[in-house]
Amino acid sequence: MHSIAIIGSGPSGCFLAEILAMKHPAIKIDLYERLSYPFGLAVNGVAPDHLHTRKVTEQLQKTLDRPQVTLHCNTQVGRDISYDQLKSNYDRVIFAVGAEQDRKLDIPGEELTGVYGSGVFTRWYNHHPDAHHLNPVLGSKVGIIGHGNVALDIARVLAKTSHEHEKSDLSPTVRSALANNTIEEIHILGRRGPKEVSFTLPELTELGSLTRAQVYVPTDHVDQVDVSDLPMSQQKVIQQLQRFAEQNPTRTTQIKIQFHFNATPLSLQGENGLEALNLKHTLSGQPSTLKLDSLITAIGYQTPRIDGVPYDDAKKRLAHHDSLIEPGVYCVGWCQRGPQGVIPTNRSEAMSLARRLLKELE
Ligand code: NAP
Repeated sequence: MHSIAIIGSGPSGCFLAEILAMKHPAIKIDLYERLSYPFGLAVNGVAPDHLHTRKVTEQLQKTLDRPQVTLHCNTQVGRDISYDQLKSNYDRVIFAVGAEQDRKLDIPGEELTGVYGSGVFTRWYNHHPDAHHLNPVLGSKVGIIGHGNVALDIARVLAKTSHEHEKSDLSPTVRSALANNTIEEIHILGRRGPKEVSFTLPELTELGSLTRAQVYVPTDHVDQVDVSDLPMSQQKVIQQLQRFAEQNPTRTTQIKIQFHFNATPLSLQGENGLEALNLKHTLSGQPSTLKLDSLITAIGYQTPRIDGVPYDDAKKRLAHHDSLIEPGVYCVGWCQRGPQGVIPTNRSEAMSLARRLLKELE
């Protein structure tokens, strides 16, 4: 019988456990989870209104129901079990701990009240125990830095009405906080141009269907963009941005969602909390100031250090060579490659690591 420890019960950890348990007749898997409940990113990161994506938990639960798999909740490596204990107790140890820490902008004023990292903020609306306390004060002008899908998720969740959130997976506290927000403007800021955005078409299009919000895209940034060198998926994103630009402004709505391109954040200012974001136009170098009541940085994540586990300081994730941390110890998912890719990406990476482990354990 082979013994395997998988650290982290999010999609990567569960997919890996599933394939190993399914394909190997003599394997016992212990899945370690820091929280009191499993599934990691599938419940703590996926937006509360994207129920079709959250449905993956039903599939992950089937893995946990397998007799060869045991879930150990409230168990953190470095606190409740050491890295050395794991290495001596198991034939293989695999880290699938994700990347939950917010990257920093590293600009003056980032510590002001009213500035939140997207990790903390999304954990708040996903009712994560580490963020219950947050109680964010957003005001009427909210900035979101980053042109990725997390930025669009946050904008959408904030702009939806209570009616649109009826089916969302929200706690009563968060539901009432969202219903009572007084947001009038949401500014989504990227430091590069429309050709370099990393959000995808479905998430962008969804912003156009919100009942109390309208999307504003500056025409001069998108009308002359040459899309011929872009993959089709990116061309479609630009076309959608162009459609938004053409429709400005067609109706009066409560919330304006304004896109900004080539806007590099320089500093944040305020006396008793955030009041404004100072920017530089990336191409012209021209400075500008945007008045804001709150700001959410959606600029990516990093893997926290784990006591004793080799760490890559430059890449802010676990140190490894082709997933191998040291003999018998591997990593998979966001702690292996950084915070990029969707749940199916984690499935295919877990499959390829599983194939490798199964060969080793033959
Ligand atoms: P992301 O796609 O990497 O976007 C991060 C954004 O932050 C980029 O626009 C980046 O700009 C910007 N940024 C980084 N550092 C910055 C800085 N110092 N100053 C200003 N801007 C900065 O990451 P994400 O939105 O966190 O998403 C993580 C992954 O999860 C992605 O693969 C995403 O597609 C996936 N995801 C998917 C869904 C979905 O399918 N619905 C939902 C959420 C997340 P540069 O490009 O200039 O660096």
